[in-house]
Amino acid sequence: MCRSLGRGNDASAGGELPRQRAHAEALDATDELAALRQRFLLPEGVIYLDGNSLGPLPRSVPERLATVVAKEWGEGLVTSWNRHGWIDAPLRVGDAIAPLIGARAGEVVVADSVSVNLFKLLAAALALRPGRSVILTERENFPTDLYVAQGLVDLLGGRARLHVVEREHLAAALDEQVAVLALSHVDFRTGEMHDLAALTAAAHRAGALVLWDLSHSAGAVPVDLEGADADLAVGCGYKYLNGGPGAPAFAFVAQRLQGALRSPIRGWMGHAAPFEFSTRYRPAPGVARLLAGTPPILSVATLEEGVTLLAAAGIEPLRRKSVALTELFIDLVARECEAWGFELASPRSPARRGSQVAWRHPHAYPIVQALIRRGVIGDFRAPDLLRFGFAPAYLRFQDVWDAVQHLRVVMEEEAWRAPELAVRGKVT
Ligand SMILES: *Cc1c(COP(=O)(O)O)cnc(C)c1O
Repeated sequence: MCRSLGRGNDASAGGELPRQRAHAEALDATDELAALRQRFLLPEGVIYLDGNSLGPLPRSVPERLATVVAKEWGEGLVTSWNRHGWIDAPLRVGDAIAPLIGARAGEVVVADSVSVNLFKLLAAALALRPGRSVILTERENFPTDLYVAQGLVDLLGGRARLHVVEREHLAAALDEQVAVLALSHVDFRTGEMHDLAALTAAAHRAGALVLWDLSHSAGAVPVDLEGADADLAVGCGYKYLNGGPGAPAFAFVAQRLQGALRSPIRGWMGHAAPFEFSTRYRPAPGVARLLAGTPPILSVATLEEGVTLLAAAGIEPLRRKSVALTELFIDLVARECEAWGFELASPRSPARRGSQVAWRHPHAYPIVQALIRRGVIGDFRAPDLLRFGFAPAYLRFQDVWDAVQHLRVVMEEEAWRAPELAVRGKVT
């Protein structure tokens, strides 16, 4: 049986959730973001509930890429670094991301991957807190965040230590040894969301810096880095920001820390004057000092298309719709699939939930595969989670409705028992 599920906030205005698809269609008819869907190229017959893993293709990308390739690269050649603004692209796109995460212009730069940016900022944070040696994080953090922190600690050979605790012990573990508290804002499995402002304040009271990983927040959940007085952050370009496979990530450094911050990867692109070719390193002013090597211009251009789309929509309307989509999904699964023992792994309260919903089920893997076969793309997270992302920019309420009907049919017909569905691919 399902865990008992309270009624969502006002998904059904206090009454029973209607039984007709027309209910979802009516929600689409009044959706203030409905027109945004046209700005994406979505395959026919697919309900895409995995935009939290890889965002879909913005309609403007093929033409933008064709221009960058044929005109800027093909014709402009090396002159395009100046003529077409390639050299400024990492800061320009960073500035476009800033309003989505409550940052100011000049506080965000696009570079490398989340993993590499974590390394740079963790090392920089340790150096900014001399006399303190601990990186504090939680066991449920995204694996790359844990691996990178451990790798850095190993490299520093005894001068730093990684302290990994359960979530409920984080506040108590904030002592005078902690240099930096490093957390993911939204849990990648369950979508559970930390109180970013409260934890930032707690870390500051303990004299520590905070590094937030916004990979599952940026573009889906409002983040107010400035309001929370946050120090450092990183985030992903290929999830809700729709930057394309392997899109570069972003890094945030609060303005007040920028002057003192040093990247451990001192590449020429982070130099104050790369084209002086000086033998002496001088960091660029501001967040640009986090750049290391030459930016991947094709990928940055693609990311710019995705970011521009979301920034124009505004994060508050995106969040409103995201909450309504996830509320409808939870209510519908609770009603339609009650017989099959799905247990909600995400917080029931939307205030504590990001833009995804996860259900536990012992046969999660083949059920997800059976759904994919029917055109409903979600994903599986070990050991027993079905995970569904609800990107508000292109999903419709009718998609939510239809996805739940597909899930019901998969369970009713036991389609997930097909032996070939148990075979796991390299990427799950
Ligand atoms: C997706 C994700 C990453 C990805 O890191 P990359 O190095 O850019 O591949 C990192 N952290 C979290 C929390 C994520 O969700």
